Amino acid sequence: MSFQNPIFIPGPTNMPEAIRQACYMPTIDHRSPLFGKILHPCLEGVRKVLKSDSAHIFIFPSTGTGGWETTLTNTLSAGDKVLIARNGMFSHRWIDMCQRHGLDVQVIETAWGNGIPTDEFETALKADTGHAIKAVLATHNETATGVKSDIAGVRKAMDAADHPAFLFVDGVSSIGSMDFRFDEWKVDVAVTGSQKGFMLPAGLAIVGFSDKARKAADSATLPRTFFDIRDMEKGYANNAYPYTPPVGLMHGLKLSLEMILEEGIDNVIARHTRIATGVRHAIDAWGLELCATRPEWYSDSVSAIRTPEGFNATDIVTRAADKYGMAFGVGLGEVAGKVFRIGHLGSLTDAMMLSGLGTAEMVMKDLGLDIKLGSGVAAAQEFYRHGS
Ligand SMILES: *Cc1c(COP(=O)(O)O)cnc(C)c1O
Repeated sequence: MSFQNPIFIPGPTNMPEAIRQACYMPTIDHRSPLFGKILHPCLEGVRKVLKSDSAHIFIFPSTGTGGWETTLTNTLSAGDKVLIARNGMFSHRWIDMCQRHGLDVQVIETAWGNGIPTDEFETALKADTGHAIKAVLATHNETATGVKSDIAGVRKAMDAADHPAFLFVDGVSSIGSMDFRFDEWKVDVAVTGSQKGFMLPAGLAIVGFSDKARKAADSATLPRTFFDIRDMEKGYANNAYPYTPPVGLMHGLKLSLEMILEEGIDNVIARHTRIATGVRHAIDAWGLELCATRPEWYSDSVSAIRTPEGFNATDIVTRAADKYGMAFGVGLGEVAGKVFRIGHLGSLTDAMMLSGLGTAEMVMKDLGLDIKLGSGVAAAQEFYRHGS
C-alpha cells in the first residue's frame, strides 16, 4: 500500500500540501475578531465561486448531506410538495431525506445514466396550475453515474411554466470544478461540501441562499435547530457562530478559495474539462463506454465506466487498492458492480491523471479484460499535448 499516490475517487479529493498546512493551525479564540478574518473571506470567496453578487452564504460543520437538510428545513413546511428526478444514488438519497421530513415528493423516475428530463419537468410544472409544488430539486452532477444535468434547462422549464417554485441545486460534486451560475440560473439554494472541488477534508456543508429562500426561513415550519440559518446569520454579524466553528477547516477553505480564484474560476472549469476529455479519449481507446448515455450529460468531475457483462466492476477497485495502492470509486446502488468510477476533480494535473489511467490499464489487464497496455494513456497523452 502506498499513501503517495493521488486518489481518483470523486471525493474526498487530493489535498494540496499548502491546504493541509492551512488546516493544521493553533487554537484561536473563535469569538475574537481574528476569527472574522477567516470567516468573511470564506463567505465572499464562496459567493464568487458560485458566480453570485448577493447570495447569502452559510458554512455549517457538517457534510453535503447536512447542506441538503439545511436547504429543506429552512424553506419548507410539512406536507409541502417538491419535484425531483431520481437518476442516481445522490438524487435517490435527497428524495429519501425529503420523504423522512414529511414532504410530498413528486419523483420523476429517470434511467441511471440520463440527465434530468427537463421536458418532463416542464410538463409537470405546467400541469401544476395551483402551484402546489413549492420547490424543484436538481442534482447538478450525479456522482454515482457521472451525469451532469442542465440546470439552465431546468430553470428554462420553470420559466416556461411561469412557475414560482424554488430551485434547489445539489452542486456538491460540481461547484468549484464545473460551470455553475447561481445568479444567471436564478438558483434559490446551492449546496456543496468541502471535500470535492474545494480540495479539503469532509466536514463543511456550504450553502448559498437567494433573498427569496432566505426570507422563507422566517415562515417555514420544518423543525430545525443546528441548521437554522437565522442563528447562523446572527452569529456572523458578530464574527461568530451559534456554536463552535471548525476553525482549521475554514482556514483551509480560505486558502482553497484563494487558490481557485487566483487560477481563475473559468480556468479551473477549463482544466476540469480538459482532464475529463483526456479520460474520455482513454475510455474510447479501451473500447469501453460511459454510464452517461449522451455527450451533453458527460460529467467533467467523474467518469463512471461500464465494464463488460458478467464482469464485476468492483474487482477493479479492489485490485487497484491491493496491488497498486491506488483508489478508484465503486459503483453505487443500481449500477453497483456494473461500473467503476474515475474521479477527476479538485487538485489534479494532466500528468497526475495519466498515472491513474496507466494504473487502471494494468488492473484491467490483470483481471483478464481485453485491454492493450498504454492504449488509453496514449490517447489521453495525444489530447493533453494539444489540448489548450
Ligand atoms: C458527495 C455528494 C453529496 C454529499 O455527500 P456527503 O458525504 O454528505 O458530503 C451529495 N450530493 C452529491 C452529488 C455528492 O457527490
